[in-house]
Amino acid sequence: MFDKILIANRGEIALRVLRACKELGIPTVAVHSTADADAMHVRFADESVCIGPPAAKDSYLNIPAILSACEITGADAVHPGYGFLSENARFAEILNDHGVHFIGPKAEHIRIMGDKIEAKRTAKRLGIPVVPGSEGGVTSDSEAQKIADDIGYPVLIKAAAGGGGRGMKVARSAAELSTALSTARSEAKAAFGDDAVYIEKYLEKPRHIEIQVLGDGKGKAIHLGERDCSLQRRHQKVLEESPSPALNTQARDQIGETVAKAMREIQYLGVGTVEFLYEDGKFYFIEMNTRIQVEHPVTEMITDIDLIFEQIRVAAGAELTLTQSDIRFHGHAIECRINAENPVSFRPSPGKILHYYPPGGLGVRIDSAVYQGYTIPPYYDSLVGKLIVHGKTRTECLMRLSRALDEVVVDGIETTLPLFRALVREKDVIDGNYHIHWLEQFLARGGMTESEPLSS
Ligand code: ADP
Repeated sequence: MFDKILIANRGEIALRVLRACKELGIPTVAVHSTADADAMHVRFADESVCIGPPAAKDSYLNIPAILSACEITGADAVHPGYGFLSENARFAEILNDHGVHFIGPKAEHIRIMGDKIEAKRTAKRLGIPVVPGSEGGVTSDSEAQKIADDIGYPVLIKAAAGGGGRGMKVARSAAELSTALSTARSEAKAAFGDDAVYIEKYLEKPRHIEIQVLGDGKGKAIHLGERDCSLQRRHQKVLEESPSPALNTQARDQIGETVAKAMREIQYLGVGTVEFLYEDGKFYFIEMNTRIQVEHPVTEMITDIDLIFEQIRVAAGAELTLTQSDIRFHGHAIECRINAENPVSFRPSPGKILHYYPPGGLGVRIDSAVYQGYTIPPYYDSLVGKLIVHGKTRTECLMRLSRALDEVVVDGIETTLPLFRALVREKDVIDGNYHIHWLEQFLARGGMTESEPLSS
């Protein structure tokens, strides 16, 4: 096992990793920017190192500063959390070159999955079903026209280097295609410095269903079921649940086993998520995330498996002792991402939390790094915390979520809590009857403004 783990992240995920390390008895190092000197992860860690000014590029993305922090403190492993350097293959390699373990997959797998065209090609080779579309990047308008004619409109232009839903453009007809292509290209160039794009069939009303995997890098790999993340705004997940209201045991086992088999074949190391769109009973691969995800607690709640614990174990070279039959799904879990944003305009609302009261009781979990008097800095993401609720059934889970949402108090800043209070009262949400555009449609018809007082 590792002697000391440095956590190259901040906020709730840094705290989440710290908790796992403490339970494993491993000493910890926090790194922080000058803006985060008072943050909880700095207080909870055994040691801390300031790695730069507030801007992420000078601190949480500053590889030389993080390496120096490892050297000064003697940390022999780095947990990258999510975001920041978590999917940076070069970072993993540099750490390894300096004798420090990266708690994550092999660099080659991060690299393959980081390029969406390459990822799709690999998925297809491994027998994972993909969205119909171009075999690789598209370079000319005429090539694009031909592919779009073959698969049929509407089509979606996506950036090879994409992430966070940027650089995606829908074309509903041949007339719209060339504008969609050039807009997607210039957005991709601006956002990722790479204008390579590819084409996919645009699915009209799919659900977003993703499979959690865990591998030991030596050929053993299992799946831990799915998460349904269909409630999205601007391609960003807002609420996640497991099991998906749309899947039965047979469908789950089948896609889970397909993915686990693929992971065994490539000898995948660590945790990962294979993301699909699901429509008319069929799965279509869209991407793989080679890191722990924001919504991982949903899986932990219904499997009782500590994913960070397992991630650290396999990164340290341990064999996977869990087998597929050890994974039992019990009950239902839902997560709400509570952001510091206006619940109607979604304008960020950083600032000081004047009053804070987290909910409690059976089946209620809060993963957050805020406290009363804490100031949410404007430099990073706007996540205040994640409220995760577990119940024996989906109905019990929803009732419990509704009650927990009524208990929370976050005053001084605007939050998206009123949105969740409105969502748990919506018939489609209660019935589990939604797809990836449902939330945008709900917001567009003024669902929020009519039903909810806007204060938290
Ligand atoms: P990113 O890495 O930018 O998040 P993804 O490929 O994961 O991009 O897609 C993000 C979201 O975009 C999906 O969850 C889904 O809502 C939408 N999306 C992606 N591909 C398609 C498609 N072929 N048809 C319809 N919607 C899509």
